[in-house]
Amino acid sequence: MFKQLFDPTTWTYTYLIADEQSKEAAFIDPVNTHLQLYLDLLKEHGLTLKYSFETHVHADHITASGLLRQQTGAQTCVSKFGGAKLVDIEINDGDVFMLGDEKIKAIPTPGHTPGCTSFLWRDRLFSGDSLLIGGCGRTDFQGGDAGALYDSITQRLFTLPGDTLVYPGHDYNGKTQSTVGEERKNNKRLGGNRSREDFIKIMSELKLAYPKFIDIALPANQACGRVLPGQAS
Ligand code: FE
Repeated sequence: MFKQLFDPTTWTYTYLIADEQSKEAAFIDPVNTHLQLYLDLLKEHGLTLKYSFETHVHADHITASGLLRQQTGAQTCVSKFGGAKLVDIEINDGDVFMLGDEKIKAIPTPGHTPGCTSFLWRDRLFSGDSLLIGGCGRTDFQGGDAGALYDSITQRLFTLPGDTLVYPGHDYNGKTQSTVGEERKNNKRLGGNRSREDFIKIMSELKLAYPKFIDIALPANQACGRVLPGQAS
């Protein structure tokens, strides 16, 4: 079972993956304002939430992982390089998480942040803010590194089969999915065998606004959404 959910305030995609047999489920990048929807979905389908995966420590929304943990006991999984506290499972390169017989594999894709992780389930890649449809995540704050992002995308993601479906962490144009083959060819920043040097130059010349929610979202997410703004940590 698979669902793609959308938060219109921050243009964030959240994914629900569940194994029909065991009824074990996981969210990827849940958003705190949709907690009730998530709980309703789990209940409606009789699912047990096992994991809540973070593709990275987000700067634009607060994760629901902490609330989901409180409500369901699901374990929060974040890269060991994510710099977050209160993590239940620190993700390492190649870690495989099971939902019944379904396998979700972690692929580190640093660059947007040092702890960025993509997840592969069957023929579906959840690329967070590393690889976006037609673009990629910014690399100008939160320990971003354009060279590292280039290496992650070209060596870890573009080497997957071309028909692998790409499900990003955001899309600002209403697109819901792409494929590795499409991005390899047409991605505006990395497609068509763009060189590493050119990519680094492009990324250094983007003049992006300071993220709106970063001062609220970052501290909360660094505690996996378990310590919210205004609360003592
Ligand atoms: Fe991000």
